[in-house]
Amino acid sequence: MIYKNVMEALDWASSFLVDNGREETAARIVMQHILGTTYSGVMLHLRDVLSIEQSEQFVELIEEHANGRPVQYCVGSEEFYGRTFLVDESVLIPRPETEELVLGTVSRIGKMFQDKALKLADIGTGSGAIAISMKLECPELAVVATDLSVEALSTAQKNARLLAAHIDFRLGDLTAPLVGEKFDVVLSNPPYIAFGEAQEMSNIVLEHEPHSALFAEEDGLILYRKLAEQLPALMNKPSLIGLEIGYMQGEQVAKFFKDSFPQATVTVEKDINGKPRMIFCEIHV
Ligand code: GLN
Repeated sequence: MIYKNVMEALDWASSFLVDNGREETAARIVMQHILGTTYSGVMLHLRDVLSIEQSEQFVELIEEHANGRPVQYCVGSEEFYGRTFLVDESVLIPRPETEELVLGTVSRIGKMFQDKALKLADIGTGSGAIAISMKLECPELAVVATDLSVEALSTAQKNARLLAAHIDFRLGDLTAPLVGEKFDVVLSNPPYIAFGEAQEMSNIVLEHEPHSALFAEEDGLILYRKLAEQLPALMNKPSLIGLEIGYMQGEQVAKFFKDSFPQATVTVEKDINGKPRMIFCEIHV
């Protein structure tokens, strides 16, 4: 099937995707990729005629997504905090909720620390979205990012290179690659979904995104428990810990951190959907 112009191709793709149970907005994301433009830039090209190669590639990617592959993997990228990150099956697709963790951290850093050279660690960096965004928002930070997965670290490294962010990447489990150092800010979006919740999740997530980035033992809480145990040895005074959490986990995760840091201010914050999604632990001098 060859389409004459961008608008006709989008019309076909929208109804084809909807017929296959997908969101029609994916049509525009694929077109943005084909035209090499921004999301809003597609509007300026609605009457442009697509080349045969562009049409074929567009149809191929739309069919791939209709068959269940997340559109971000089909086009190989996702937007996060105003920048484009490469993604593939080695990493979780960055979520808008995680942008709020970056936003909350940037604003706290401004209030908590005075003109000091700060050291930040992002544990389980995946695509590098959190670490790289933090480095680019706060260039004075020295940023270390860890992951268990060699493949994820290689994707994160590509992103750091493309976005010109200097990050010290390290392979290893949780805080193991950080032992012996002190940090002013530690962030993490660890896997936190209970294995038992898998049956409620969409196939598009379950069949394509890395389970090691999604699921965790102890009802999804094990990594928070371990972080609460391991982080006291790594934190400076003052310092800040920011974690993404599952919306039902606020109370339990807050308890882990209050037990480990009795003098700290621990707050659970909601995301734009009104669901508890982040926890901040401010460790005072
Ligand atoms: N927010 C992700 C999801 O709902 C889960 C991310 C995570 O486990 N860290 O798919």
